[in-house]
Amino acid sequence: MNNVYYGKLIFELSKEGRRGYTLPKNELAQYNIEDLPAHLMREQAPALPEVDELTVVRHYTNMSNNNFGVDTGFYPLGSCTMKYNPKINEEMSSLPAFTGLHPLQDVSTVQGALEVYYNLQTSLAEISGLSEFTLNPYAGAHGELTGLMVMKSYHMSRNDDKRTKVIIPDSAHGTNPASAAVCGFDIVVVKSRPDGTVDVEDLRPLLDDSIAGMMMTNPNTLGIFEHNIAEIAELVHEAGGLMYYDGANLNPMLGMCRPGDLGFDIMHINLHKTFSTPHGGGGPGDGPVGVREGLEQFLPCPRVVLDENYELKIEFNDESLGSVSGFLGNFGVIMRAYSYILTLGKENLRMVGPLATLNANYVKESLKDCYELPIEGVCKHEFVFDGLKDKSTGVTTLDVAKRLLDYGYHAPTIYFPLLFHQALMIEPTENESKETLDGFIEVMRKIATEASENPELVKGAPHNTPVRRLDDTLAALKPVVTYAELAQAE
Ligand SMILES: *Cc1c(COP(=O)(O)O)cnc(C)c1O
Repeated sequence: MNNVYYGKLIFELSKEGRRGYTLPKNELAQYNIEDLPAHLMREQAPALPEVDELTVVRHYTNMSNNNFGVDTGFYPLGSCTMKYNPKINEEMSSLPAFTGLHPLQDVSTVQGALEVYYNLQTSLAEISGLSEFTLNPYAGAHGELTGLMVMKSYHMSRNDDKRTKVIIPDSAHGTNPASAAVCGFDIVVVKSRPDGTVDVEDLRPLLDDSIAGMMMTNPNTLGIFEHNIAEIAELVHEAGGLMYYDGANLNPMLGMCRPGDLGFDIMHINLHKTFSTPHGGGGPGDGPVGVREGLEQFLPCPRVVLDENYELKIEFNDESLGSVSGFLGNFGVIMRAYSYILTLGKENLRMVGPLATLNANYVKESLKDCYELPIEGVCKHEFVFDGLKDKSTGVTTLDVAKRLLDYGYHAPTIYFPLLFHQALMIEPTENESKETLDGFIEVMRKIATEASENPELVKGAPHNTPVRRLDDTLAALKPVVTYAELAQAE
């Protein structure tokens, strides 16, 4: 692609006096502009690019084509993957009847929206085997914090105030220790065994009456099912602690088993991963929190409840830990999740876990002769390679990830989890076709061959992308986000 719009900033396309719009009638013209306070009036016209309509359209369309998205190609990003995002969900979440609502409207006028909220709440409880859910938290990490606040409220309600520690496995997602720390807990790390599961013998001596609970992901971030989960839950419960389940990625579990049945007391779900909201670039999200029977009263307010006349109400209660968000969470995301569950239905929802597992194992088995597989055996929805099998070429996981971009694939998650030096974490998700998986496998094998035959080619990648290898650290520390800053930087 090489046209006059490509790689240009909109300001560079500006021509003095060029116009590409017709403004709507100024509804404020009827007011006397002199009435506005002088300090609110602009002294100079804003410096806007002056461009015709087609230039604007082509500029932005070209720019969007430079972006990789789940709608343009395969996206095997482990752990934080965008899973299946049916387009009908977008339509449902933008229905004017919902988008036009105001959160302070009288409840009698928003019964439809409350029904969506209530039905999703009860569906999630059924799916996860817990008693009640709140949909109020805005993200996975926000759900973790809310769940840990429930844990704290529970111990406090029993005047058990010496429980200051939370146990977290060394394979955990980084948000787990961060949320526990924000909630005021001290973190105790429990080690993993060589097979990637929690070492029960390392856990035993950590358990005493200073433990508030334990946070786990199952299958864990290595994609391995924690088969000792029943024993672990029993040990933690015996010590008086609660079990917290990080259900950000619930897809391998759907239809297979329920966290509540495994002994978990509190959990969160990322609607923006498992239940289909595209979440690139940091949002939007929603992180519902569920609890087992006996902990419902601690959930945050407001809550949506069904009264004896089958009317939905918004309720506050005294035992609750309070409010964690404005109103009732992120309604657009809630709407998409509800639409997703109804679209798939019970039967197809049951297929999500088995298909996620099948796809991940297919890719893993097809590549393990060229990539180092540190943990053998059947994985669940994702798995981790420890870089290329042949380490003699000096080609790293970062190089492989960059070379994938040349072939039109999004890179897997790299250098996480921290258990391996060259971690390459792949999650194909449940809905990808065999042809897509075969295409990815072929390219991964090709890169392995290139790494041994022409390592410099891989180390210099990407070669075909709009921008080459960037200094990610500098870009994060000193982002250039305005034209003025760019002009200054040059
Ligand atoms: C994504 C993720 C989280 C955090 O979710 P956010 O919405 O990004 O805050 C927590 N745990 C696991 C395992 C995750 O994959």
